[in-house]
Amino acid sequence: MRIFRHLAKITDIFVEILKPKFSQYFRIWSLIMNIHTATYVISSPEVDKCPKADRPEFAFIGRSNVGKSSLINMIVQQKSLAKTSGTPGKTQLINHFDVLSGDEKGQQYRWYLVDLPGYGFAKVSQSQRKSWEKMIENYIVKRENLANLFVLIDGRHKPQQVDLDFVNKLGRLRVPFSLVFTKADKETQKIVAGNVDAFMRSLKETWAELPPHFVTSAVKFTGRNKLLSFIAEILNT
Ligand code: GDP
Repeated sequence: MRIFRHLAKITDIFVEILKPKFSQYFRIWSLIMNIHTATYVISSPEVDKCPKADRPEFAFIGRSNVGKSSLINMIVQQKSLAKTSGTPGKTQLINHFDVLSGDEKGQQYRWYLVDLPGYGFAKVSQSQRKSWEKMIENYIVKRENLANLFVLIDGRHKPQQVDLDFVNKLGRLRVPFSLVFTKADKETQKIVAGNVDAFMRSLKETWAELPPHFVTSAVKFTGRNKLLSFIAEILNT
């Protein structure tokens, strides 16, 4: 009997330790949302030139070549709404798209999807980098309707310092964000899961609470429903 009690205690301890972890890692977004229309609105050189902040907006950012355009096109189910990257770092514009979507309960939502210029270009000058940083920081801090920033991370690689630095900066700026690990189809599930876990563990060294995260493939449409449910849940609150 005593042995069972010990076992129970040990299990309780494990449950207590794992509970918060499981709720963060495996939260299931349940609301199904469909995109009705998604259209390009405007590209702005700075936050003050962006469209009126009259609806919630969800922005996407990440290193060049991380798969941002592919992910946006996958979400809206269009071939080329977001242009696949041109010359790295040249066009530093904030691109707004008007989206009309609806959930399974018949509720409709109008929101902005925002494609932000990427970071981590190897070939840009120091001054271009500085102006990008200023522009992004201004956007993040000033854009009052920003409901969530999706930070894209290439799921094929081990944690990269440039991504960790950017995410840690978001913490300091107190912006609501989540992580999207891309290109999951390009590696085995085990490798991607290992990379995701390593990234989350790196964050844990400095963060008390971990941000939500998603694993996606633009080729296989992986993660699309979860991302849209997450957006719907935020739009619903
Ligand atoms: P961006 O520069 O971040 O907008 O990246 P792109 O969307 O242009 O993608 C960069 C490259 O990665 C392109 O060749 C895409 O076809 C490829 N790519 C993007 N997402 C995926 C994905 O989920 N799976 C695979 N296999 N390739 C992808």
